[in-house]
Amino acid sequence: MNKIPLVDLKAQYKTIKKEIDLSLKNVIEKTAFINGEENKLFEEEFAKFCDVKYAIGVGSGSVALDFTLEALGIKNGDEVICPSHTFTATAEAIVHREATPVFVDIDEGTYNLDPNLIEEKISKNTKAILVVHLNGQPADMAQFKKIAKKHKLWLIEDAAQAHGALYKNKKIGSLGDMAIFSFFPGKNLGCYGDGGAVVTNNKKLADKVRLLKDHGRFSKYDHNSIGYGGRLDNLQAAILRVKLKYLEFWNEKRRQIAKIYDKALKDKFIIPKVLPKTTPVYYVYVLRHPQRDEIIKKLNELNIATGIYYPKPLHLQKAYDFLGYKKGDLPKTEKVCDEIFSIPMYPELTQTQIKFIIKQLLANEQD
Ligand SMILES: *Cc1c(COP(=O)(O)O)cnc(C)c1O
Repeated sequence: MNKIPLVDLKAQYKTIKKEIDLSLKNVIEKTAFINGEENKLFEEEFAKFCDVKYAIGVGSGSVALDFTLEALGIKNGDEVICPSHTFTATAEAIVHREATPVFVDIDEGTYNLDPNLIEEKISKNTKAILVVHLNGQPADMAQFKKIAKKHKLWLIEDAAQAHGALYKNKKIGSLGDMAIFSFFPGKNLGCYGDGGAVVTNNKKLADKVRLLKDHGRFSKYDHNSIGYGGRLDNLQAAILRVKLKYLEFWNEKRRQIAKIYDKALKDKFIIPKVLPKTTPVYYVYVLRHPQRDEIIKKLNELNIATGIYYPKPLHLQKAYDFLGYKKGDLPKTEKVCDEIFSIPMYPELTQTQIKFIIKQLLANEQD
């Protein structure tokens, strides 16, 4: 068996090569690389896909977070509630605003923020709850909405891993005040470089992000506010327009594979918990087992790639030392980080590959 990677972007490219190559050629021949038609059309199509009024293409998911927090006016002295079990960009954006990330522990089933632990962390300085839909698994948005409304907080979705996921038939990204997406190549909707988007139903906030991503540009030579160079370029937008058409199909494939994994592996491992009335998109497929390290070592020897998202929670990372957290502060996060691992998950996985992975996982467990 050839090596089975965690994701196979080449296999995906092969299935859409003609369309991708043509779309790139069009942009190159027009030499319209920045602020062009492709970006505008992608923004319209992506807003429609997310069931929101506005989508703004930006340079990455990370800057999408920066622009979102700046547009909301998060500033020095503010506190923003977020998980520690996430990618560092989530909390970095808060620190960039000179605000303080307040890490809250997760629900041990979904690996997302536990809504029951939020209110005790709300202070007079709290301005927002930044929810991450980790692994493409929707967080319990009805609960967060209720809390945000009661305490007059902004509700932000980090949907970098959850393009197309549903919560009670509503699109992830349409449930808070603002949401961000990443189009990093390996994400469910990925471009061929860096890319991201901010989405919202609020025109004022959308306009602010538009200014932030393009040097506060009001018109070609008029800069009305201080912004950044943070645009999505047209080559990336062209690629995303092609891939967006396939996203629902690819997400469905991921769910079918997850179903097969769930059924085969549920007695031996802790499988992903899906909240009722939600439709996940399995950015990664996460298993949990106390002997995680031995299991992944054996899988790797058998040419099956594995990943750990994430082995070290943010509150114990050196970068966040200044916040003063210590081991034991977020017990569920810490326990989960020691036991989770991901196995290959991408729409082009073959039945033979899936069977092989399952067989090895079950064999491993019996040793
Ligand atoms: C990928 C990711 C980001 C950052 O996106 P980039 O496009 O890589 O900058 C932010 N948050 C989460 C949860 C992510 O997975």
